[in-house]
Amino acid sequence: MSNEYKHVLVAVDLTKDSHLVLERALPIAKRNGAKISIIHTLEPLGFAYGGDIPMDLTSIQDQLDSHARERLGEIASPHDIAAEDQYVVVGMPDSEIHRFAAEHDVDLIVVGSHGRHGFALLLGSTSTGVLHGAQCDVLAVRVGADDSEE
Ligand code: AMP
Repeated sequence: MSNEYKHVLVAVDLTKDSHLVLERALPIAKRNGAKISIIHTLEPLGFAYGGDIPMDLTSIQDQLDSHARERLGEIASPHDIAAEDQYVVVGMPDSEIHRFAAEHDVDLIVVGSHGRHGFALLLGSTSTGVLHGAQCDVLAVRVGADDSEE
């Protein structure tokens, strides 16, 4: 058994691509005898709506949070990833993934990547954001093509 990685973090957007990303990460974690954690980040509603809507968004955020936890459990639990290793956090994906990785001694982050090109590439992507500024290795798993390519 190689012991190159000790803690693998899988970032998922909760789409069907998440299964592919997780299925690539699992054997790597197993080969290395590494711990595996899975994370989904929820954009803060105040941020999404510019923060200037005069209404309390707390209960909607709570509902989104519990829906995300449920969906994450459906993806992770069949692979024996314990509930305490499944994380839903509020914030922007790249910065929250970096923060989590630093705080939990993650040495490999696994993300999906749509392999964008042209204008879509210029706009950037979560996988690019995660790669830039990561303090550890990042594996970008090629997932389904963008709509623009289909
Ligand atoms: P891209 O299509 O290149 O922007 O990257 C998509 C990948 O970024 C997904 O497969 C996930 O690995 C990751 N990702 C996107 N959104 C999130 C999110 N909200 N939380 C965690 N990971 C995410």
